[in-house]
Amino acid sequence: MLDLDKRSISYLPGVGPKKADILVKEAGISSYEDLLYYFPYRYVDRSRFYQVAEINGSMPYIQLKGRILSFETLGEGRTRRLVARFADGSGVIDLVWFKGVAFVKNKYVLNKEYIVFGKPTEFGRSYNIAHPEIDPIEQGGQVAGGLTPFYNTTEKMKKSFLNSKAIQNLQYSLLKSLNWDIPETLPRHLLDRVGMMSLPEAIRNIHFPDSAEALKSAQLRLKFDELFFVQLNTLRTATMRKRKLKGIVFPNVGEMFNTFYKDYLPFELTGAQKRVVREIRADMGSGRQMNRLLQGDVGSGKTLVALLSMLLAVDNAYQACIMAPTEILANQHYVTIMEFLKDMPIKVALLTGSTKKKEREKILPAIASGEIQIVIGTHALIEETVVFSSLGLSIIDEQHRFGVEQRARLWTKNSVIPHVLVMTATPIPRTLAMTLYGDLDVSVIDELPPGRKPIKTLHRYDNKKAQLYDFLRKEIQLGRQVYVVYPLIEGSEKLDYKNLEEGFEIFKEVFPEYKVCMVHGKMKAADKDAEMQKFISGEANMLLATTVIEVGVNVPNASVMVIESAERFGLSQLHQLRGRVGRGAEQSYCVLVSSYKLSNDTRKRLEIMVSTNDGFEIAEADLRLRGHGDLDGTQQSGEGVYLKIASLATDGQILQYARDIANELLDKDPDLTDETNRILNERLSKIFRKKTNWGLIS
Ligand code: ADP
Ligand code: MG
Repeated sequence: MLDLDKRSISYLPGVGPKKADILVKEAGISSYEDLLYYFPYRYVDRSRFYQVAEINGSMPYIQLKGRILSFETLGEGRTRRLVARFADGSGVIDLVWFKGVAFVKNKYVLNKEYIVFGKPTEFGRSYNIAHPEIDPIEQGGQVAGGLTPFYNTTEKMKKSFLNSKAIQNLQYSLLKSLNWDIPETLPRHLLDRVGMMSLPEAIRNIHFPDSAEALKSAQLRLKFDELFFVQLNTLRTATMRKRKLKGIVFPNVGEMFNTFYKDYLPFELTGAQKRVVREIRADMGSGRQMNRLLQGDVGSGKTLVALLSMLLAVDNAYQACIMAPTEILANQHYVTIMEFLKDMPIKVALLTGSTKKKEREKILPAIASGEIQIVIGTHALIEETVVFSSLGLSIIDEQHRFGVEQRARLWTKNSVIPHVLVMTATPIPRTLAMTLYGDLDVSVIDELPPGRKPIKTLHRYDNKKAQLYDFLRKEIQLGRQVYVVYPLIEGSEKLDYKNLEEGFEIFKEVFPEYKVCMVHGKMKAADKDAEMQKFISGEANMLLATTVIEVGVNVPNASVMVIESAERFGLSQLHQLRGRVGRGAEQSYCVLVSSYKLSNDTRKRLEIMVSTNDGFEIAEADLRLRGHGDLDGTQQSGEGVYLKIASLATDGQILQYARDIANELLDKDPDLTDETNRILNERLSKIFRKKTNWGLIS
């Protein structure tokens, strides 16, 4: 059978070079296979007519049959719109156009019977249909009937006569030329095991559904396929790694760990911290190399878990290091860890880009000799001049700031790969973690240290600034410090700093009695650190910043976080920012300042922030909102794999099932060498052929 992925779309009758070019550029369709996997983003039930009286808020696209009673132009400027009253005997509904007003008014005749087709939306207490499709009743035979697929198209595609209908026609002629048959991607035994529709049948039904049920089965099969191969790939590389990479064994829980735990630990570990330390200990004693992701909301106490893990390494005569994404953070880790360790006989060094040459000349040999047991630093740690004598554990803080390659460099520093612990405060929903980090083991700290007062989050409009200033003044009078964060405006650096700098001038004017400082990404590192230091030391009362303060800074006395233009931030970013406060004993506040005009999604985002402090809940909501708003339904599933049909937000169960099936298969045939599994191997290398085998190193 011909290779559908190698056959250029330009060979398809009716396409030709010009259209082929548009299809590649606008829709990423370059082969026959690409076309077949260009799925409709919705289906419309044109099998029946609905009545106006039946309409409710949760309807898909529907069709109505009736007459236009009147036209009326309402509003001015941007709100100018044409409204038609449309009646079908059961009720009346408004049809609305914001564009093409004159055209519409001329085209349709009052009191003539039409088929109207569109999606009803709730508008105040009634419903309307914006920009409906309208066909004369005589054309009913052509437009009605069955489930009609709709494909995403762009303006350029439409201009080249590649609208949704045209794509459907292309699908038809392609499938017909293939006799409606395409190669299966799953072996027979697997198809029997999962009892799903065959691939040719699924592809046919996704484009030309026989029925709503058949469409559902087709969607299930294609979602499963997609998720199954992603899982098979990650799990296979994970098993490969586990077999190949022998781990350093840490058999001892020795003096340092025990002494610290008994005599130095200033507070009881939370239950979650205890559990995670146990998991890490088990890993590092198992003889396999640990590759673990530690997720914990901001302030959940990851640093302490890191320190305890490093003590385990030290007790086993190995070195440990922790790499932070910025100097400020590395410094802070150093200070924190030194405070925790007090007079314990452990040699700790700090190594960053601004470590002085003389200092460096002392530190490097001591790392090489093994005299220094714990090294804390930035990416300066991965420079070639840094050689460890026996690195047993690498910890990476705030992992999303480091590229995969950077991380890899850290563990190729040894002949034996050290244990790796990646810590992140970005809560990743389970489904996403399984796809992104399917080959990492995941630990979660899902409990905050006791005594924290939940942060109060408020939403305020930016025309009520005076009240906000009063509130800030009161808090500062109580001795607290305040963060004010401004968004980065993409593609316009000038504007960024304009906002921040204007804010700076205003705050200095409004608060002449207090010290205001400012940091942003374009400042020299030394200046930035100096300003930051003023805030950390308590000398400055307010810190105005762009999002450079997002990551990990710990100033327990700062109890108010003001986020300007909050509508410009994503949910997880808002949550990260909010996590900068609420670290001390005082009641903390997060004030989201936005303009009055907000889109529905933005309003929802801010509402979620006000209603919960739970990072996981927020991450799930974020995924749902973004997954929802994403018209073409493509989602990045990991390192460069895009999901075309499955959704990480809603297909968690299918994902879990796909993972179980992949595991079951790999248990029996870990290398997929069995003849019956050959097509799986081929499919994997086809999908992932361009990808480096990160699984071995990340
Ligand atoms: P993050 O997970 O954001 O890195 P940190 O490790 O910075 O959190 O911890 C936040 C604060 O909580 C620190 O001041 C730390 O000393 C404190 N802390 C950590 N664990 C506990 C605990 N079990 N009980 C009380 N305070 C704790
Ligand atoms: Mg931290």
